[in-house]
Amino acid sequence: MNRALRDIVIVGGGTAGWMAAAALSKVVGTQNYSITLVESEQIGTVGVGEATIPAISLFNNVLGLDEDEFVRETNATFKLGIEFIDWARLGHTYHHPFGLFAGDLGGIGFSHYWFRWLKAGGDPDNLMFSAEAEAARRGRFTRADGRPGLPKLHYAFHFDASLYAAYLRRFAEARGVVRVEGKVVRVRQHAETGFIEGLELDDGRRLHGDFFFDCSGFRGLLIEETLKSGYEDWSRWLPMNRAAAMPCARVEDPAPLTRSTAREAGWQWRIPLQHRTGNGYVFCNEFIAEQEAMDLLSRRLDGAALDEPRLLKFVTGRRKTCWVKNCLALGLASGFLEPLESTSIHLVQSGISKFLTLFPKNGCDPKLVDRFNWEMERDYVSVRDFVIAHYKVSERDDTPFWRYCRDMDAPDTLAAKLELFRTRGEVLVDNHELFREVNWFAVLYGQGLVPQDHHPVADVMSDEELRIRLSGARKAILERVAAMPTHQEFIDRHCSALRSVDAA
Ligand SMILES: Cc1cc2nc3c(=O)[nH]c(=O)nc-3n(C[C@H](O)[C@H](O)[C@H](O)COP(=O)(O)OP(=O)(O)OC[C@H]3O[C@@H](n4cnc5c(N)ncnc54)[C@H](O)[C@@H]3O)c2cc1C
Repeated sequence: MNRALRDIVIVGGGTAGWMAAAALSKVVGTQNYSITLVESEQIGTVGVGEATIPAISLFNNVLGLDEDEFVRETNATFKLGIEFIDWARLGHTYHHPFGLFAGDLGGIGFSHYWFRWLKAGGDPDNLMFSAEAEAARRGRFTRADGRPGLPKLHYAFHFDASLYAAYLRRFAEARGVVRVEGKVVRVRQHAETGFIEGLELDDGRRLHGDFFFDCSGFRGLLIEETLKSGYEDWSRWLPMNRAAAMPCARVEDPAPLTRSTAREAGWQWRIPLQHRTGNGYVFCNEFIAEQEAMDLLSRRLDGAALDEPRLLKFVTGRRKTCWVKNCLALGLASGFLEPLESTSIHLVQSGISKFLTLFPKNGCDPKLVDRFNWEMERDYVSVRDFVIAHYKVSERDDTPFWRYCRDMDAPDTLAAKLELFRTRGEVLVDNHELFREVNWFAVLYGQGLVPQDHHPVADVMSDEELRIRLSGARKAILERVAAMPTHQEFIDRHCSALRSVDAA
């Protein structure tokens, strides 16, 4: 039955399940609601998911987590952006840094001034005007450099996703969330409405609930197997359907960035943590055999392998509706976009935040459900387009995979964005979109797309003034970055997990 909320049940104890449990226990509490999380150690979690985007700090701040403790507990490092190697063409490198470029030059976004400058013969290295990219290239990091008037660096984290889930579990259990170990083998639904009423575990125990979160991973135990939401398959635009993941020993101080290297049939990630380096090859098995991809990954590590490669299978896309009746899917149960821009954990966070805003205290009003599904679809589609752009806008045509990407049609929403950028140097983004004009500028220019024109407002400033403003911005960035400690020094000073292990 559709009734007022009292008993909330979360199925799944991966990152999504424990993020939901932690947020619910903090925001609505366990005084008025009972929150139970059921998970099965026998099934286990995906447990990869190591890179994030800056918005995760909002989530951690809502919980009131101490950042240094969080970094220590999860073996985390700081991330200032992503370095893309061989994506535009072989031998080429660019960054998608967090944060803005060069501050405010007035009237219109930096990219328009930049394109004007570039056309007049300026240095093509746009990253000179990003403090985050400059710091990342020099392996430096600080949270605040203490200079009045300067913006903080924008940063996210690389962390061990299993440790993050364990950390959130301790947080949630301390606030009254009840964890149940067991495998859900049957879902009971109301005979007429189809609303979920309870779950049965393999040992015969029963769990009753008024509202259910499906955080059961790719299979979507409740949202798909029970409620038949349906899946929108996006693999014609994002054909990657496998990932081989494999940690290796750390061989150098961790760089404050994720590295993504384009490969013959996909791309390889390199994510430095405090104690090891995470690696993975995301590929399409129609363009490379699984074993060959795993062998290549093993040969392309920069430290000794710490484990055998683990193969994960997926289909890119999203559940047609993430909230059906009294069940809401989060994480892999709600859909999957490859981790190229580290957005999956963010989509979990976004789903939790929308749910809390619409909180169905008195039952699942279809207006709330529709609103949630509409907003979630927009989030997924806009992230999807941004990820596709990395493949579509590239000069690479050296393998069948890259020729497929070159020849595929872009979704209409993306085609319209690319056309506007190509002709006017502009990207029109809606308020809800995660990736803003500055992100599109970094990636589209990085991928080799130089627009034919820029906005006329950028032509108002004299050549001399533009030169002075840009060189002033560059000088300020260089001075700032020179004064920063190295990333490793910063970690040692504030949040070393290794030191706390040594000390124990
Ligand atoms: C290759 C790869 C790389 C990724 N990299 C990133 C990244 O860099 N950044 C990022 O943000 N995201 C990344 N992700 C996504 C990220 O891993 C997931 O979004 C995140 O871990 C959430 O997973 P989950 O909790 O939804 O599912 P899972 O981790 O699969 O957890 C599912 C849970 O459900 C439980 N369960 C399932 N069936 C039952 C049952 N019948 N009874 C009881 N319990 C059950 C399991 O025991 C488990 O606890 C990546 C994903 C993949 C596949």
